[in-house]
Amino acid sequence: MSTLVDKILGSDIPYITYAVPFFFLLIGVEFVAGLVQRKQLYRLNDSINDLSCGVIDQIVGIFLQSLLFAGYLFLFEHARLLNIQEAPAGVKWIAAGALVLGVDFCFYWFHRTAHEYAAPWATHVVHHQSEEYNLTVALRQSAFESCFAWIFYLPLAVLGFPPGWYLAMSALNLLYQFWIHTEAIGRLGPLELVMNTPSHHRVHHARNLKYLDKNYAGMFIIWDRMFGTFQVEEEQPVYGITKPLGSLNPLWANLHYWAELAEDAWRAPRWQDKFKIWFMPLGWTPPGLPERPRAQEITRAQQVKYNPQLRTGLSLYVLSQFVLVLGLAVTVLTMGDEKQPLRVIAGPAALVLWSLANLGGLLERKSWARKAEFVRICAIPLVAYAWFGTAWAPLAGAIAYAVISAAWLLAYGDHRAIDNTAQPAASHGADAHRSHVLHPHEDVSHALDGHANGNRQSSGAHPAQPRPTHEARPTAAD
Ligand SMILES: [Zn+2]
Ligand SMILES: [Zn+2]
Repeated sequence: MSTLVDKILGSDIPYITYAVPFFFLLIGVEFVAGLVQRKQLYRLNDSINDLSCGVIDQIVGIFLQSLLFAGYLFLFEHARLLNIQEAPAGVKWIAAGALVLGVDFCFYWFHRTAHEYAAPWATHVVHHQSEEYNLTVALRQSAFESCFAWIFYLPLAVLGFPPGWYLAMSALNLLYQFWIHTEAIGRLGPLELVMNTPSHHRVHHARNLKYLDKNYAGMFIIWDRMFGTFQVEEEQPVYGITKPLGSLNPLWANLHYWAELAEDAWRAPRWQDKFKIWFMPLGWTPPGLPERPRAQEITRAQQVKYNPQLRTGLSLYVLSQFVLVLGLAVTVLTMGDEKQPLRVIAGPAALVLWSLANLGGLLERKSWARKAEFVRICAIPLVAYAWFGTAWAPLAGAIAYAVISAAWLLAYGDHRAIDNTAQPAASHGADAHRSHVLHPHEDVSHALDGHANGNRQSSGAHPAQPRPTHEARPTAAD
């Protein structure tokens, strides 16, 4: 008999898709809260990059989901110990409560492993690359993390938790983690003893040495307290990874650490190390290669964020194109929810990925991106013809879109204008692409305290970065 708990957990509700409007509503609320508090909580290029990673994760997920779910289904069908589905309603509620804890416990161990070993870190690193901390960072998820994560949840299948329940509870666990990605909420008193909170998770995203590899919790901080990985928030966190990504291309965000590992594997003298390197603890270097640099201590005043300056017209171009791509991405995700054939979804999905890579390249001021973007714009009428045939309205709309976009890009796509009028705020030999987070003409009073300090530091008012006094394993570090 179908009970309320079955309806909540077992009816295949796409919780994440339903939550999307609330994500954007809360992002808007946080943005306004930042304006009221005179804090710069958002940067356009960083947030577009965060959301691009989230979109790519969801789209790749359409193609990986059934593959990665097969193990859970098999164990549930052939090796489950309990028949929870046939239990009385009261027992089902107890089981649902146990599943809340079970999913979170499995998440803790997956998350901890993802920070401690090379290949899983190559996937999870995406979530940590942002040098900001706001609600868009919550949506910055890795496209390939699920390739490792699924293994950690298999015990739940053996215990007998129905597959639908597991999927729903995983989605709810992920949804819980959305609101904790904010600087707008301070400490939360006794709640912090049990729950994961913004303060606890700020520590997890920090690259200060004392904060590395701490607070792996999803919903409940109790696991960190039990297993010795808890750290309370003390000094202001500095966000990001210790070897900054220095890119706004969401495809590269998903691939860069794999590329580093592949390069080390290629250069490793011993054959066995070429295989071993993928499975070793983070920071392990094959014999015969130079040690990776150790993580350095850092303060907000010393951090120079990756923030290429763009002409306003080009920023607006990227923003407007990004909104259109988001619309296409929602269409693709809906096709996925409707279980349309993957070969039908593949075309529009590829267009979304290509568009996001181009927009990331434009934000990085890459000349290849401008050329690729012209090709993409010209391809849109062909895509409209392929999808809608000779129906005049879509075709005329696509041609108008292409003409307006091409004219806009021609007018604002050249970076030389800004290079002639604006000096990068960062000094100390940083190139223009690594200019400080603040625009040269921005009022520092609108920035976070640390940012304002950073602006003064970059103008030479602060002493040079001190020699590091700590040593740390470069876990979560590069
Ligand atoms: Zn993490
Ligand atoms: Zn996070």
